[in-house]
Amino acid sequence: MSTRFSPYHARFQPVAFALLSASLLSAAQTQELPTAATTAKVTADALAIFSDMNRSSEIVRSLAKGDSVYVDLRIDQGGVKWCGVRMTAQTARVGFADCKGLVRTSAPMIQGGPGVASASTSGVRTVVEIPLARPSVPTLSGYSAVKSEVIKDGVVDSGYIASADSQARSGGSAAVTRAALAHLAAGEFELAQHEPDKALEQIDAMQPFVGNQRNLVLAGLSARGYALLMKSEYNSALEVINEARKLSPPSAELSAMSGYIHYRLNQLDTAIADLQTAQKIQSRPKVGEVLAQALRDKNAEGDYGEGESTHFVVRYHGGASRRLASDVVHTLEGQFDELRDDVHYTPSEPITVILYPHQEFRDVTGVPDWAGALNDGRIRVAVEGIDSVPDALARSLKHELTHSFLFQKTQGRCPTWLQEGMAQWIAGRRIGPDAAQLLALHQSGGKSLRSIEGSWMKLSRADSWFAYGWALATIETIQSEQGPDAMNRLLEAQRTESSQEAALRQGLRMNFAELDDATVAYLKKTYLQ
Ligand SMILES: [Zn+2]
Repeated sequence: MSTRFSPYHARFQPVAFALLSASLLSAAQTQELPTAATTAKVTADALAIFSDMNRSSEIVRSLAKGDSVYVDLRIDQGGVKWCGVRMTAQTARVGFADCKGLVRTSAPMIQGGPGVASASTSGVRTVVEIPLARPSVPTLSGYSAVKSEVIKDGVVDSGYIASADSQARSGGSAAVTRAALAHLAAGEFELAQHEPDKALEQIDAMQPFVGNQRNLVLAGLSARGYALLMKSEYNSALEVINEARKLSPPSAELSAMSGYIHYRLNQLDTAIADLQTAQKIQSRPKVGEVLAQALRDKNAEGDYGEGESTHFVVRYHGGASRRLASDVVHTLEGQFDELRDDVHYTPSEPITVILYPHQEFRDVTGVPDWAGALNDGRIRVAVEGIDSVPDALARSLKHELTHSFLFQKTQGRCPTWLQEGMAQWIAGRRIGPDAAQLLALHQSGGKSLRSIEGSWMKLSRADSWFAYGWALATIETIQSEQGPDAMNRLLEAQRTESSQEAALRQGLRMNFAELDDATVAYLKKTYLQ
């Protein structure tokens, strides 16, 4: 999965906010034209509504200047910006019009509903890269020589490690140290490959050879802490990092890791103190970004109330009602149980949910408030003026909660299409009348699962409409044709297999093209007959 190492995939990387808001800004610059999910007014004297996105297709209706409509999608195709037109948000689509004859009259609301918009923009960040440098391996003489023996052509030479082990058992102290370094090198390599379980195996295997060499003990603790952090086991990671900090001189890396873990655990004061310590020792841009986000959060949450339940910590603005907060917790706990059964996984740490008023949501996240909800490790939701959880908010919460489960279950290795497809599916969304349009884009527009396999950060609005739709269509296909067991094999395979091809083969016995073919057949059978 080469995309894992691209710079923007981090759901936990606050820099993603800036990138996300930049992409939304460019959408806002064309704000006169309707975007998807907005109301609009006809500005042309007469506006033809075509049955397809094609001027030679049948004209199904003609609208007059001043008529109000709802735009449910926009696709830029063949130099024309096509708007899908409904007479109201609640009715079925009438057809398609040239967007140039329309002007937007409301901010886009992706799924609509009082007090909350949907989560559709949130998923642009899926695969994690923890935004910290891995703790550097303390300078150990001979480490790089051993490392070059252990890692050859991008794989771990287990034969070399086995012989180092056996020589250590019968040899002198040099052989013992060499065996420890060999396991450490292999563990570091696995961390770089985002394989925390394999890294932990190596670090365990290293222990008998560590003795009381402080350098080695420290390197082992750092690597173990980082692996546990990758597995979202924050409390265990913190214990290990605390132990390492006791043995180590002041270390920027260890302080930063400690700060980051406290941030994940929602302990903002300690997080900020540790991150500031790290920056004083050695300033790093990525750590600075986490620190800035923690300070923004603290500033925004200063007068927030807090509620806790078995699996959640919920913070809410003083102006938000306690009733709403407790209804949110109640809703989330129910969803937590359902998700545990659906994805066969139980997150090990409480999940933080923050309810913001709209303006504050925008200030903290940098995304427009119509984006409604997002998950960057904390579930952040914009709500205002409601006392209980409406259906749209419940769906939005479940969508975001699904991201938390999948992220942790796959140890940060769930590709965006699988994250977003599952989050929509679990939240109850189905393809419905969009099937025809998706099929057209797949069959004549050259778009496919392959084309949405990597990061979604840079997708245009139209491309992202396809991406969300095709991801959902693919999940619907898997659930309907192969069932939940196959779905779970596929999720499991994200963690264990080294590439997307291998994960699809392992989970579904299919390749990309075969899965697309199955999706086409499913959509036709289900929606077009
Ligand atoms: Zn999402």
